[in-house]
Amino acid sequence: MKKQTIALHTPYVRPDAYGSLAVPVYNNVSFEFQDAQEMSDVFCNRVKAPDYARIANPTVTQFEQRVKALTSAAHVTACNSGMAAISTALLAVVSQGRNIVTSRHLFGNTLAFISGTLLRLGVKPRLRDLTDLEAVEAAIDEQTACVFLEIVTNPQLEVADLKAIAEIAHRKGVPVIADSTVIPFTETRLQALGVDVEVVSSTKYLSGGGTSLGGLIIDYATFPDINKRVKYDLLINLGVYMTPQTAYMQTLGLETLDVRYQQQAANALWLAKALKQEDGIASVNYIGLPDNPYYELSQRQFGPTAGAMLTIDLASRQACFEFLNKLRLVHRATNLFDSRTLAIHPASTIFGLFPERQLEQMDVRQTTIRLSVGLEAPEDILADIRQAIDN
Ligand SMILES: *Cc1c(COP(=O)(O)O)cnc(C)c1O
Repeated sequence: MKKQTIALHTPYVRPDAYGSLAVPVYNNVSFEFQDAQEMSDVFCNRVKAPDYARIANPTVTQFEQRVKALTSAAHVTACNSGMAAISTALLAVVSQGRNIVTSRHLFGNTLAFISGTLLRLGVKPRLRDLTDLEAVEAAIDEQTACVFLEIVTNPQLEVADLKAIAEIAHRKGVPVIADSTVIPFTETRLQALGVDVEVVSSTKYLSGGGTSLGGLIIDYATFPDINKRVKYDLLINLGVYMTPQTAYMQTLGLETLDVRYQQQAANALWLAKALKQEDGIASVNYIGLPDNPYYELSQRQFGPTAGAMLTIDLASRQACFEFLNKLRLVHRATNLFDSRTLAIHPASTIFGLFPERQLEQMDVRQTTIRLSVGLEAPEDILADIRQAIDN
């Protein structure tokens, strides 16, 4: 079956007593057992069944099963935010004295987690230019716990050469953990490119219009110890498991993900092309434009679509603020892949507390506006951007 069908028809783990078509929401904490033996079997992992909702819940399990069916992953773990998924996956591979090879081009909280939280626990960040394969190779040593990367960075829109990086990492016995939030896993086969574990903020494309926070750890079991640490240690001990209400909303989001994504990606391409013709815009950065330096790599790795995030550069920080203030349709808000188009000035918001020197190292410019393109008619988005640029 194709992805659109799988997203709708993955069978329930156990048939619903009433034959509910939409996934039932088990909005409860505990589950009763027939007898003491069954109770012991479940608690001691001899029998798989839910016992307590911090550890397992049928609604969440159903969501995980659908993602598993769509990705052919060995294990899927749903967490209560993208950051919960990222921090849990990283904690599963690190220990004191080890290092993580990664980049400065990272989601702000991920960078803060790696270079702040984990550093305090004795794990060293090795921040390198991941487009420089020699630098990647030189950074990996016996103590490297993983290579961590974002498949497309935000807001720089740098595309990682996954096959090349994974080849280097695997030669040294090191797993590659990839944040694949910006291109849905229904579009790509990252395992075939060498990714061992995917982490996703399901808050974005999956939630279906910015309804709920969530995260996924999609584990291909090429490094079998990771899942054991995630499921039997961190998930339970940190309390990062997804809630049933969120799993319900995100299952509904998953059912319509493909149509929404295809339209949003088409809108983004249409808009990127149109914005290139606009006088007031200094440059347009979108990896789906054939003259983008990452276009070919993106097409090769992710297929014909290139996501729904693009950036434009204006004359100055002041011009960016004026532009944002004049928008009438496009919302001034953070988040990616809401059904509505959103605009933000990353340097003064998401990265607003980083010192200027660090922003330069991260290639976060004062002149950049990030757009997350929604499901509106693209002509209407363009008209709003035009009137906000015209003085
Ligand atoms: C939003 C985002 C995250 C964090 O996800 P939350 O669900 O907000 O915790 C991580 N990585 C990327 C690329 C993101 O866009």
